Amino acid sequence: MKLAHLGIAVKSLDDSVKIFEKIFKVKATEKEYVDEQKVNVRKLHLENCDLELLEGTDPESPISKYIEKKGEGIHHVSFEVSDIAGSLIELKEEGIKLINETPRTGADDMLIAFLHPKSTNSILIEFTQKKK
Ligand code: ZN
Repeated sequence: MKLAHLGIAVKSLDDSVKIFEKIFKVKATEKEYVDEQKVNVRKLHLENCDLELLEGTDPESPISKYIEKKGEGIHHVSFEVSDIAGSLIELKEEGIKLINETPRTGADDMLIAFLHPKSTNSILIEFTQKKK
């Protein structure tokens, strides 16, 4: 398992991308809309992990709700696994609460699933896997 990306909730993708490109000296990817989460996403590929900037496009988006409650900042930490469906079954059996019991499609057409922060010291952990 390896760190895939840090998901960062931002109010304005355009404003944040300018700042992050300056800090990390890489160009962000083109904007991608993920309907499932009602978010616009742009990523910065760093050497060992990505930064995933997330902007809600609707008040009902989990990102909009997060910013409303907690403000901008690190929203989730994503880890790449080789068998996401198997990992979820295993975690559930071990008593870890899951937000998504089955994988769904996220940005970059990756399979994703979130673990429940109640089981993870309030850290929102995402598992991700390349589609085979
Ligand atoms: Zn993510």
